[in-house]
Amino acid sequence: RLNSIAKEKGYFSYFIGGLVRDWVLKKPIKDIDMVIQGDALEIAKIYGEKYNISVQYFPRFQTAKIPLDDRIFNNIDLISTRKEIYEFPGALPKIIEGNLKDDLYRRDFSINTLCYSLNSFKIIDLFQGEKDIKNKLIRVLYSKSFMDDPTRILRAIRFKNRFEFKYEAYTKEYMIEAINKKAFATISSDRIKKELILCLQEEKVKEILMDFIEFNIIETLFFIKDISENQFIWLEKVCKIIKNKNKVLVILLIVFFNANQESIEKFCDFYQINKDYKKLLISNKEVFLKIKNELKKNNLTPFEIYRLFSSLKEEQIIFLNIYLQEKFFIKKFLEYYVNELRDVHIFITGKDLISLGIPPGPIYDVIFKRVLKNKINLGWKTKEKEIEY
Ligand code: ATP
Repeated sequence: RLNSIAKEKGYFSYFIGGLVRDWVLKKPIKDIDMVIQGDALEIAKIYGEKYNISVQYFPRFQTAKIPLDDRIFNNIDLISTRKEIYEFPGALPKIIEGNLKDDLYRRDFSINTLCYSLNSFKIIDLFQGEKDIKNKLIRVLYSKSFMDDPTRILRAIRFKNRFEFKYEAYTKEYMIEAINKKAFATISSDRIKKELILCLQEEKVKEILMDFIEFNIIETLFFIKDISENQFIWLEKVCKIIKNKNKVLVILLIVFFNANQESIEKFCDFYQINKDYKKLLISNKEVFLKIKNELKKNNLTPFEIYRLFSSLKEEQIIFLNIYLQEKFFIKKFLEYYVNELRDVHIFITGKDLISLGIPPGPIYDVIFKRVLKNKINLGWKTKEKEIEY
């Protein structure tokens, strides 16, 4: 429907970017990006009015988001073909009107320049994207590409590892050159953070971090010198356990496990990570070591075991489980906590205490804690037991 509106206006429209790349690669398609050689906002507006759909407009960027009534895709991003001009390395590009070729040339790698014409129903491949896909190559379109936009260094590493491609020889040289010229220093931490998070959400995060080390950017990105063999083993295990994107915090806990406080503080301040996460990253190793030592004691009561683990975040439990892997004797306590203790909750509430004639006050907290302790240690199952106590 969008395409026929565009056609009526005499515009050409194309599917573009990751969608066509993933289609050629026979991978699942995630987002729909469409470019219009013409006025994309005008098309979005006519479409919204005609079908009574509320479209989001971003006039500054000449883009629109059109919601889809679809279970797989949430929306289509619509954009006018454009040309980008970088006034100096790392600058946000100046956007001016451009044709399809200009729009393809502003893109990061040849594999992302493929587009599918909705007028001729053919793939248009002006920068040999299909050949590079066939040869499994990540290739930039011009030599200063990484200097213009250093986030492309992270994008190159992300796509290369996601698809198990290689860096085209010149592209690798340009990357190294940009890194040596301190290209990352020319962009904001926000832009680095956005791409770094995408890297850490990838399935091949271990290989991505290995590339960060190979390209000598681990210190620039994480303010640490290295990642040990053991940490890589843990990372690999995490990726086997968690297949979705919700593993960034576990990855960070592992990456910073041997780091000193100064590095963690620099990292958190640079990327504006909130105080709670900062505290968590700094204290994590100490917490793990304490737990390991405590668990060596004999005769721990169930409640003491509960107390050791109950303040941990889910991500710490995932990592701790891997960390304790070889130490079966200790690990069984964690399994006991997760399977038997973690979900124990008391039934009684403030209302019950009021009806028992106890005036509200700090004593309530003391009572709740005692009830929980006894419930865990004595295996109470019913609310009657709690009230009786
Ligand atoms: P993914 O599969 O991770 O979503 P994608 O290719 O769809 O990857 P997006 O980040 O959604 O990537 O970007 C969409 C398109 O915009 C890319 O295919 C690429 O052509 C272009 N693009 C995004 N970021 C840049 C950049 N920094 N420099 C040049 N082109 C970019």
